[in-house]
Amino acid sequence: MKNRIFFALLVSICIAPALLAQQSLDALIDRELPQLVATYKMLHAAPELSHYEIKTSAFVAGQLRSLGYTVTENVGKYDNPLWKGHGVVAVMKNGDGPTILVRTDLDALPVEEKTGLPYASSVKTKNDAGQEVGVMHACGHDVHITSFLGTAKMLAQLKQEWHGTLILVGQLAEETIDGAKAMLAGGLYSMVPKPDFAIALHDNADLEAGKVAYCPGFALANSTSVEITIRGLGGHGSKPEATKDPIVVAAQTILALQTIVSRENSPLDPAVVTVGSIHGGAKSNIIPDEVKLLLTVRSYKEEVRQHILASIERITKNIAAAAGIPDDRAPIVKVSDTEVTPATYNDPKLTERLAGAFQKTLGAENVVKWPPIMGSEDFGRFSLDNTIPSCMFWLGAVEPAKVEAARKSGKPLPSLHSSLFQPLPEPTLRTGVKAMTAAVLELTRK
Ligand SMILES: [Zn+2]
Ligand SMILES: [Zn+2]
Repeated sequence: MKNRIFFALLVSICIAPALLAQQSLDALIDRELPQLVATYKMLHAAPELSHYEIKTSAFVAGQLRSLGYTVTENVGKYDNPLWKGHGVVAVMKNGDGPTILVRTDLDALPVEEKTGLPYASSVKTKNDAGQEVGVMHACGHDVHITSFLGTAKMLAQLKQEWHGTLILVGQLAEETIDGAKAMLAGGLYSMVPKPDFAIALHDNADLEAGKVAYCPGFALANSTSVEITIRGLGGHGSKPEATKDPIVVAAQTILALQTIVSRENSPLDPAVVTVGSIHGGAKSNIIPDEVKLLLTVRSYKEEVRQHILASIERITKNIAAAAGIPDDRAPIVKVSDTEVTPATYNDPKLTERLAGAFQKTLGAENVVKWPPIMGSEDFGRFSLDNTIPSCMFWLGAVEPAKVEAARKSGKPLPSLHSSLFQPLPEPTLRTGVKAMTAAVLELTRK
């Protein structure tokens, strides 16, 4: 009996600090939650487009400064001189120990919100082309910002439990996948130490609020935009024999491009070639001079990406040649050097370690393994070609009853970027703060 009491005492002494820390984190988040929900709704109603995150970044910087972080604003340098960098970098030093980078994105999308929520966005603005567009946090970056600010507060309050350096990055222009690149070009890693680990979360439009998901290895694809200009020799629609019709050549090219993935690429290497836009001609009886195609190319491996890009060029040029288009009117294939981002590769060891911490903090039933997707993110850039172990995990954001109904009916839920995407603020924000705080504590605990 004595032995049993001694054993029970020993067990309680051993688990007590972790349990206490867990309880104190829960209590801290409970206390903070009403303010976090209010912040979320405020951000949701005031979205800003990529490259123009001026008020959002100023708000984030002010909040982090008031929590005791050393904050640098206006970080980021674009190739386009018209865009100013509005990135935020905040640092908290807390003795010797690992350096952890936590990232949120700040930008919203040119989408007119149709959720009908009381805090829905009614913001309208002009895009770079001068067209009036609605603006909406349709990718949930407002969820990310709020979880990030909540995490910043928790870690400032729990300083006695961790050691090291925390770097918080408010990243611009994720949706246009040039923001992380701009922040690195603006000297991010010369103003802060290179991190030992980089972490981010992204909300998920298919996963229940209250849960998180993880995907070791390749989690999101690389992405490259390609513009093809097919040039012909225009003329009267009634006299095709006197022309080289770029519309027919474009149609053949689009179909032939489909054979890259189906016939040239290994079925074991995921890849996508999508022609998302075709523009040419103005009138039914005119054969135009040119047709423009806009493509997105996705894969995980860099060598697959290189192969696809070379094949696009080869197929496009040879179909034009077969149609008799002279060399000086050969198609122009332009691979974008701005709309391009590497794949997101979640370091397997780090990802499994974080998954373990999530299970302890959220309960094993709330942590699920998620398959890789062909969507893209520019978070991977912070890993400097995967030399810094990094991990982006998914945060469930949907009302559980809606997920259940969608599973039963087979009717898909509104996806990210939909005008109807509607994250459930609580418990999404609670889980976001809890998971991200647990992730940092796992890597820095004393
Ligand atoms: Zn997005
Ligand atoms: Zn996003």
